[in-house]
Amino acid sequence: MPGGVSSPVRAFKSVGGEPIVFDRVKGPYAWDVDGNRFIDYVGTWGPAICGHAHPEVITALNEALEKGTSFGAPCQLENKLAEMVIEAVPSVEMVRFVNSGTEACMAVLRLMRAFTGRDKVIKFEGCYHGHADMFLVKAGSGVATLGLPDSPGVPRSTTANTLTAPYNDLEAVKELFAENPDAISGVILEPVVGNAGFITPEPGFLEGLRELTSENGALLVFDEVMTGFRISYGGAQSRFGVTPDLTTMGKVIGGGLPVGAYGGRAEIMAMVAPAGPMYQAGTLSGNPLAMTAGIKTLELLKQEGTYERLEATTQRLISGIITSANESGIPISGSSISAMFGFYLCDGPVRNFEEAKATDTELFSKLHRSMLEKGIYLAPSAFEAGFTSLAHSDDDIDATLKAFRDSFAELS
Ligand SMILES: *Cc1c(COP(=O)(O)O)cnc(C)c1O
Repeated sequence: MPGGVSSPVRAFKSVGGEPIVFDRVKGPYAWDVDGNRFIDYVGTWGPAICGHAHPEVITALNEALEKGTSFGAPCQLENKLAEMVIEAVPSVEMVRFVNSGTEACMAVLRLMRAFTGRDKVIKFEGCYHGHADMFLVKAGSGVATLGLPDSPGVPRSTTANTLTAPYNDLEAVKELFAENPDAISGVILEPVVGNAGFITPEPGFLEGLRELTSENGALLVFDEVMTGFRISYGGAQSRFGVTPDLTTMGKVIGGGLPVGAYGGRAEIMAMVAPAGPMYQAGTLSGNPLAMTAGIKTLELLKQEGTYERLEATTQRLISGIITSANESGIPISGSSISAMFGFYLCDGPVRNFEEAKATDTELFSKLHRSMLEKGIYLAPSAFEAGFTSLAHSDDDIDATLKAFRDSFAELS
């Protein structure tokens, strides 16, 4: 396998050393093949928000398994998950399931073009929308980590229609609209950025994009593959009160199985085949196992107090990390929203990818190694967000904070 992995960031290239090979996961923990236990803050890159291998999800999956793994025909479970998504996510009136976040973003871009009859799209530096050609421009962590500004094999003709702006910079977006009249199909962004470290939208940024897109006859698309059902049950759009035209989802809605989805205003979604002329299909899409894991996960998340608990856990973690760094005289800028957090080893504020690059990546590598030795598994890149889950207990956070204190003290 290239680099020994099935997805690049897993290879530890940016932090050095050998990747940890996992054997099994449960709750907030991962065990490697040598039997070492880690408190895990990657959570399979987001899906494990209820904790790994939640007993209710596993039971539901076992039951679903008995009925078969894939139908290639409509199933009731798809309708149930669709109803749950439509009820939860403000922008979604109609939804299509696919198998990954990448697939959802590819499809949504085709839909943006089909609906508006325009070819260009605006994305932001440091935002990741999967590995499709037209999004591999200034695409954040995975690409940044490998030092690839773009990927070979992506034709210039494909990315010629991809315009980029710095995150949190409304003026830059305004200029792009002015320079490309009636040519921009829409703006796609991570409403909270988790693929360039962790960057939050400044007050007015999301609202400003909503106005600018509407004024210019363009669509606003939130890529909530990471933030959906994590920033709040209804995603970042619900938390910030800004409703996009279209939304992509993934990660949490699959509950650890491969699922992606895109949805939005019915008028736009009606363009998708077979309701409309925009072609998009998938052999395993909406398969009963993936739908079951998604439904069960959302049911667990819907319970009273879930997001309050996630928020409290994550806040305690990030404020502890900041305090320890300060005590050791190590520059840090960190923040969290709900069950997502991140920190940069530099002075803040960090409002865009350019500012994020000030983080001390060498120091982060040392920190990462030191934390691993203490049984804490952080994302193996200075440009990834961290994830907490309902399974992370106060004791887990205490143990994690002690490891941070000791590591920062060693590194100062
Ligand atoms: C992970 C991610 C994707 C890609 O999803 P995959 O399932 O890995 O293809 C797209 N957009 C965002 C915001 C993501 O975090």
